Amino acid sequence: MTDLGRRAFLKTSALAASAALLTSPARRVHAAPKARVVVVGGGFGGAIAAKYLQMADPEIRVTLVEKEPVFRSCPMSNEVLSGDRSLDALTFDFRGLTRRGIAIMQDEITEIDAEQHFVRGSSGNRYNYDKLILSPGVSFRWDAIEGLTEEVAERFPHAWKAGPQTLKLRQQLEAMDDGGVFIISAPPNPFRCPPGPYERAAQVAHYFKQHKPKSKIIILDAKDAFSKQGLFQAGWKQHYGDMIEWVSGAAGGIVEAIDPKTGALIGTVEDFHGNVVSPIPPQRAGALAVSAGLTDASGWCPVDQKTFASTLHPDIHVIGDSCIAGVMPKSGYSANSQGKVCAAAIAAEIAGQAAPEPSYVNTCYSLITPDHGISVAGVYDLEDGQIVGIEGAGGLSPMDADARTRAIEARFAHDWFRNITADMFG
Ligand SMILES: Cc1cc2nc3c(=O)[nH]c(=O)nc-3n(C[C@H](O)[C@H](O)[C@H](O)COP(=O)(O)OP(=O)(O)OC[C@H]3O[C@@H](n4cnc5c(N)ncnc54)[C@H](O)[C@@H]3O)c2cc1C
Repeated sequence: MTDLGRRAFLKTSALAASAALLTSPARRVHAAPKARVVVVGGGFGGAIAAKYLQMADPEIRVTLVEKEPVFRSCPMSNEVLSGDRSLDALTFDFRGLTRRGIAIMQDEITEIDAEQHFVRGSSGNRYNYDKLILSPGVSFRWDAIEGLTEEVAERFPHAWKAGPQTLKLRQQLEAMDDGGVFIISAPPNPFRCPPGPYERAAQVAHYFKQHKPKSKIIILDAKDAFSKQGLFQAGWKQHYGDMIEWVSGAAGGIVEAIDPKTGALIGTVEDFHGNVVSPIPPQRAGALAVSAGLTDASGWCPVDQKTFASTLHPDIHVIGDSCIAGVMPKSGYSANSQGKVCAAAIAAEIAGQAAPEPSYVNTCYSLITPDHGISVAGVYDLEDGQIVGIEGAGGLSPMDADARTRAIEARFAHDWFRNITADMFG
C-alpha cells in the first residue's frame, strides 16, 4: 500500500470509528470502558472474537489491529487457481465491524509487553489492554527445506496466504504449456487447512482438463495419509483419470531441498522436476506469537483450551491456527468457533463470572469440481482440559454418494463461505 493509500485508510478508519463512537446506540460515549481488549489479526479468528466480544458486552472497548488494509480469505482461494473466482471475491473490508463500534487500526504489531499490558505497532502507536487476543495465523519454517527461503518462494509460490502469491501461481499455471507438470509439495502435520493441498490439486486439474488436458499434477507429501483421502482419491479418478499422482512420504514424497534456480525438488528417493512448482512450507504459529515467546517446543501456542488463555501469559489469549486446540484441525471454521468461545470466556471474566462450558464445531468442505463437493465435520467437547471429538457427531461424506448429493455438497461449500464471511464482517 502506498503512503497515501495508508494515510487515507487510517483517516477513513479513524473517521468511521469516531462516527461509530458518536452514533452507535450500543456504546456509551464518555463513560470509561469497563475493560480494554485489543485483538490482533482481523481474520477468521480475530474478526469473530472482536465482534462477539463487542456484542457480549458493549461496555468493553474493543480495538482490532490488522496489518493489512483488507482481509483476503484463503478458503475458496483454490478457485482462483482454477479460474472460477477472482481475488476480489475473496476480499473483505472492516466497515461492518466499525459500524458495530469496534475501533479498527491498520498497524502491524511488532512488540508485546505482557508485564505492562501493551502492544506496539510499526506505526509507533501503543495500544494498552486488560486482555489481549492474538489470532495471527501461521508463519513458515524457512529452515525446514534446504534452499527454500522467503525470497525463493516468490518464484515458486506456496500461495498459502491468499493474495499476490495466489495470483502469481495462477499466472504461472496459465503460462504453462499443455503437457507440463505441476508439482505441489504438502507439508507435515500440523498445518493450516489439512485438506487444502488435495483440493488445490483437484481445482488445478479442473482447469487443466478444460485447457491443458495432457498436463500432469504430482503431489509430493511429507505424510503417508491425509484428510478425506478416500473421497479425494475417488473424486480425482472419477473426474481426472490419472492426471493427479500422489506420492506418500514413505514412497519418496518427503522433500528435503529445492534447487533455487530450477525449482527441482530433491526427495529422499529421487528428484522431481516440474514446469510449475509450489512447495508449501512446513508451518508454525504466527510470527508475532513466536517472537513474543508464546510458543512451546512444538512451535505452536499452548493454551487453556476452555478459555484460550495462554498458559505462558494468562492475560493473552491465542486462537485460530496459532494455538494448540486438542484435536481440532487448523481451519477457518475452527478459528471461528474458538473466537466465540474465547470472547464468551473473556466477557464472563470481566463480569466476574466463571467461563461458560464450551462446545466447538468444525466443517471443512472441499471441491473436486464445481459440482462435486465433499466434507468432513466434527463437534467437540472439553475433556480433562483437552478438546476432544464427540463420538457419533460429525463425520465424512459417504463414499458411495450419488452425483446429486455431491452437487448439493458443492452448493453447501459456497453457502458456508457466504455465511462465515457474513458472520465475520457483517
Ligand atoms: C488454500 C487454503 C484453503 C483453505 N480453505 C479452508 C476452508 O475451506 N475452510 C476452512 O475452514 N479453512 C480453510 N483454510 C484455512 C484457513 O484459512 C485458516 O485456518 C484460517 O485463516 C485461520 O484463521 P486465523 O485467524 O488463525 O488466521 P487468518 O485468518 O490468517 O488471520 C490472521 C490475520 O492476522 C493478521 N496479522 C498477522 N500478524 C499480524 C501482526 N503482527 N499485526 C497485525 N496483524 C497481523 C494477518 O494479516 C491476517 O489478516 C484454507 C487455507 C488455505 C491456505
